[in-house]
Amino acid sequence: MNAALLVIDMIKEFVTGRLGGAHAQAVVPNIKRLIEAARRSGSPVVYVTDAHLEGVDHEFDVWGSHAVAGSDEAEMVPMLAPAEGDHRLYKRRYSAFYATGLDALLRELKVDPVVLTGVLTNICIQHTAADAYFRGYRVVVPTDCVNALTPEEQETSLAFMRRMYDAELTDSGEAEELLGEPR
Ligand code: ZN
Repeated sequence: MNAALLVIDMIKEFVTGRLGGAHAQAVVPNIKRLIEAARRSGSPVVYVTDAHLEGVDHEFDVWGSHAVAGSDEAEMVPMLAPAEGDHRLYKRRYSAFYATGLDALLRELKVDPVVLTGVLTNICIQHTAADAYFRGYRVVVPTDCVNALTPEEQETSLAFMRRMYDAELTDSGEAEELLGEPR
């Protein structure tokens, strides 16, 4: 089976907005390279991003209001804008699998492993890795395509995913080869 690229939460809110910063901006060019490699080979590119319901979602108790569905902050950053043929799903929890239809989509596309990219490593990436592992997917994490708010959180989370979910930690070069394999 072929790999799918998941691009998680690379929206304005988490890259250039209130909850963004240099940690997220640093991975944009690396993710862009993977998106381009996947498109060239026909590997699926799936964007799964926060789109919260104002006044409903209890995540606001932890983070304050953010990435409200339909707002500009919930749009992808322009450099990683989806193209025709890419897939776009919306989430209201940390995991890209929770109530999004992602599992059904990946099974219809007949893909495995899933390559996880985006922010934050120790929150949405790690929860997505857990759900992918629970569902039997191989998990690949190019470490220069994910980031956390601190180097400590980044390293702790990567080690946790490797140990608990058998995640393969690679760099963007290896992931580019994996996604670029002809289908
Ligand atoms: Zn959120």
